Amino acid sequence: MTARRTVIRGGLVLGHGGDAAPMDMLIEDGRILAIEAPGFEASEDAEVLSAHDRMLIPGLISAHTHSHGALNRGAVDDRASLEMFLTGAGASTRSRGIDDKYLSAALSAAEMIRKGCTACFDLSVEFPGPSREGISAVARAYHDAGMRAVVAPMIADRIIYQALPGLLEALPEDLRAQCASLAAEPIEPTLATCRDILANWEFDRRWIRPALGPTIPLHCSDPFLTACAQLSAEYGVPLQTHLAESRAQAALGRTRYGKSLVGHLDQLGVLSERLSAAHGIWLDDDDIARLGQTGVGVAHNPSSNLRLGSGVAPVRKLLQNGITVGVGTDASNTSDGQNMFEATRLASYLSRIDGFDSEQWLSAKEAFDLATEGSAKILGFEKIGRLAPGYEADIVFLRLDSPHFVPLRWPLMQMVFGENGASVHTVMIGGRIVFDDGKLLTLDEASLRRRAEDAARRLDEANAGAFATAATIARLVGTFCAAQGCTGHTLPRKLSLACEG
Ligand SMILES: [Zn+2]
Repeated sequence: MTARRTVIRGGLVLGHGGDAAPMDMLIEDGRILAIEAPGFEASEDAEVLSAHDRMLIPGLISAHTHSHGALNRGAVDDRASLEMFLTGAGASTRSRGIDDKYLSAALSAAEMIRKGCTACFDLSVEFPGPSREGISAVARAYHDAGMRAVVAPMIADRIIYQALPGLLEALPEDLRAQCASLAAEPIEPTLATCRDILANWEFDRRWIRPALGPTIPLHCSDPFLTACAQLSAEYGVPLQTHLAESRAQAALGRTRYGKSLVGHLDQLGVLSERLSAAHGIWLDDDDIARLGQTGVGVAHNPSSNLRLGSGVAPVRKLLQNGITVGVGTDASNTSDGQNMFEATRLASYLSRIDGFDSEQWLSAKEAFDLATEGSAKILGFEKIGRLAPGYEADIVFLRLDSPHFVPLRWPLMQMVFGENGASVHTVMIGGRIVFDDGKLLTLDEASLRRRAEDAARRLDEANAGAFATAATIARLVGTFCAAQGCTGHTLPRKLSLACEG
């Protein structure tokens, strides 16, 4: 079989060093073979693509999202904190069939591609528990979209009322009995399903890989966390959890474990290079040092952290401790979109809140590197996130006639700080064009839209009772969590200041 070759001519290619220069690229069988000065000779059988007036950048990589969130767009209260959101999370994923799970992932993938994101780490939840068919449907959606993805069943053996110590007792009596009767799926069938998923993965791992997502340490018993870590080691797959995302989590972790969440995971032996921590906001210096020493990565989600009022992750400190940091959007229902350009810009801008020493702020290049090469490491893919020979041809073509590129002086900075995704003209993943001139070529977006509207009507009706109950309880949970951590615990400085204020 002869190799499939493409030459991309005339583009302004963003190199690893941050400079953009006019270059031609030769792609063979989906990988970048060479990047050369314009006009180099390619074999006659190579397809020629013009990238005139385009900047070519590596596809952005979301280190943390949830495809199930796409079908819940518009359904989360505009002032919900994390725990208020989690109170209603079960209601929002009930009643879904396999088609709904596929549809939600396809919607999520379509948005990511449109916004220049070519790979993601997806923690996908199913109600009441994970299934091989459900995870397979999500993976198939990414396959059909032509994206790369790591797909992890998001799992737990506690629901929020068992997870947060003191919460049940804080609820009014009538609700307490109701909430106490609810329970998560038992541990054994969940772990058996995960083993089945890992042992029988049916997708090409160059594109789509499995992982495990024990959702939040407080929502997982110790035997459950340990079993997840063992499974991840046995099958050599990544593990991702939401770690110290909210102030309440950090404080209640100390209440439950008598130590920090990181300290607890360390004691259980869960910290390793296979683990990545989504959010990683409420960490003290000792936590950060331990994450650095054990090789745990962090997926930074600035847009979601702002939306849910969770806080600001200490990204500079994480980097100073040698921690791999990637950037993610989180789900479409907790950051209202899958816009990796926005998340990358916010990663840089938010670092300025940490102090007035501008040398400590994340530069545009640093933020971009985190959203590409950093995220690639979190996903465990070695050859994505950079335009260089040997790397996968995951390339986003940006229009250079967009206002923020005119006049063009500093392409990288103007892209990181000015781009919102509207300049994305063409997206190539593994050498295949999946989006071109405003049109997604792999999925029928008009049909997805019709199906999403139908599904939303059906699911909202089916889950109306559960949503109404959750809405009532969410306010009480929000009040309970807002009060956590203001007394009696050693917590990061910003938290103490917030409490004093
Ligand atoms: Zn998340």
